[in-house]
Amino acid sequence: MECKYCGGECMKWGYRIRKLKTGDGAYDILEVPRVRCKTCSKTFTIYENEILPGLHFSKNIVEGAVETYEYPSERTMRRWRKNHAVK
Ligand SMILES: [Zn+2]
Repeated sequence: MECKYCGGECMKWGYRIRKLKTGDGAYDILEVPRVRCKTCSKTFTIYENEILPGLHFSKNIVEGAVETYEYPSERTMRRWRKNHAVK
């Protein structure tokens, strides 16, 4: 895949663990792949659709993710909400 900063080639760089609120104090654990750019050496987390569709996000989970963690962009969050039909 391409680096989102410079367009260079990226390699896998482990995982980060995300905890997503399920609304009753419990969490779902999500492994989010990280990559590292060979050109600019930046690391970043992949938040793309291949991770999310298998999850059944509720409104609470999406809001919990926003509240608790950094997230890629407002545009992506709108896509999440749209994809998961959150009103
Ligand atoms: Zn780069």
